Amino acid sequence: MQNAYDCIVIGAGIIGLSCAYQLAKARKTVLVLERGDVGCGTSGACDHMILLQSKAPGLPLRLAMESLEIYREWQSELQEDIEFATRGGMILIDKKDHMPVMEDFVKKQKSIGLNVEILEKKYLKKKQPWVSDHVIASTYSPEDSQVNPFKVLFALYQASSRIGVKLLRYAAVTEIKRKSEYWEVRTTAGEVYSAQVVVNAAGVWSGEIASYVGLNLPIRPKRGQIIVTEPIEEIGETDAWDANYIISKHLSNFERDETSKRLGLGFAMSRTHSGNYLIGSTREYVGFNRSTTYEALKAITNRAVELFPVFDKVRIIRSFAGLRPACDDGKYIIGEDPANPGFFIATGHEGDGIALAPITGKLISQLICGERTTLEIDAISPARFRVASEVAQRN
Ligand SMILES: Cc1cc2nc3c(=O)[nH]c(=O)nc-3n(C[C@H](O)[C@H](O)[C@H](O)COP(=O)(O)OP(=O)(O)OC[C@H]3O[C@@H](n4cnc5c(N)ncnc54)[C@H](O)[C@@H]3O)c2cc1C
Repeated sequence: MQNAYDCIVIGAGIIGLSCAYQLAKARKTVLVLERGDVGCGTSGACDHMILLQSKAPGLPLRLAMESLEIYREWQSELQEDIEFATRGGMILIDKKDHMPVMEDFVKKQKSIGLNVEILEKKYLKKKQPWVSDHVIASTYSPEDSQVNPFKVLFALYQASSRIGVKLLRYAAVTEIKRKSEYWEVRTTAGEVYSAQVVVNAAGVWSGEIASYVGLNLPIRPKRGQIIVTEPIEEIGETDAWDANYIISKHLSNFERDETSKRLGLGFAMSRTHSGNYLIGSTREYVGFNRSTTYEALKAITNRAVELFPVFDKVRIIRSFAGLRPACDDGKYIIGEDPANPGFFIATGHEGDGIALAPITGKLISQLICGERTTLEIDAISPARFRVASEVAQRN
């Protein structure tokens, strides 16, 4: 059959390309359909961390730890420099009531096997000599790492092309239909492609794709704003966050000032390969609006100077905003829709998609190839959005 593949992946962000690459490695024929260009969605407007310390102790942390190992392999396997670096990370604590939250978080993460500890002020100052005196303690993990997402996208695209993946740009999917043994996928250009398996990796737009097969996926964009500084000398030994970052990510009911709560403000500071600092960020539900706002940029810069007064002298060269694909229940969505055999979903990574792209692609490939998955992932299956009667009716 013409235009027939084993798998069609929808979306050429970091998740879709990781799925495509690992499916092709498993000897599947793969077509990627992308509405714009590679990385035109969230993967091209985000931070760059493979952050372990921010992951909830449990499946998210285990997934991140597995993913980090794959990134280590990809450094040579992908045959491109992806600017992988392990700088370690510290979560700064400057409010007494944040201390028990972080102590509990660290205790649970240690029990999963993460190398992480709480540092007293005198030890944290050795690693962060420029930090403000009002910071009372911090966490420290030597494991937190980073990549350049643009370089990962390019490397995955190149490596996938070498093993036969076909990628069509400016081919927006507009319809997906089940035929007896396969799926038929139509694009804006009017072309029809068929495959035994479809992978929905359309990020914040994955709800729209799921609706084509009758599945209501509760994915909403969560905006994050970031500023980029000029390249400067290194500030401190590791990248750094504040406890608000953990609170805004995991504990939305925690008592905070009105502006921080509304913007979902959490400080994040990381140094790129070229010496610029990326400083963020917010967690806001504002639909598909990707603008930056004066209020948020001011709040981010104020917090940066509060924690590291030295930033007062540093120039900002640009700012941007991206949309995290967030699922309403706060969990990732990886697996097959039980009411639509052969329709797989890889989304809902919210602020963790760069870190989790390698393991997500691996799990999707294992599921499609009928292999045992590296980790037990029933808890994040799209089956949670179906009721039993729907599954019975459709199968
Ligand atoms: C400010 C910010 C900071 C972040 N920092 C980090 C971080 O430090 N570490 C981390 O791990 N994660 C981080 N993230 C999260 C991470 O960026 C995302 O989880 C990840 O990029 C999502 O990737 P994706 O491939 O699912 O989505 P996308 O990159 O958006 O890819 C989806 C693709 O699908 C395409 N598409 C949509 N509809 C269609 C259609 N109908 N037909 C064909 N194609 C379609 C889109 O054009 C897009 O290219 C951050 C996010 C933001 C916003």
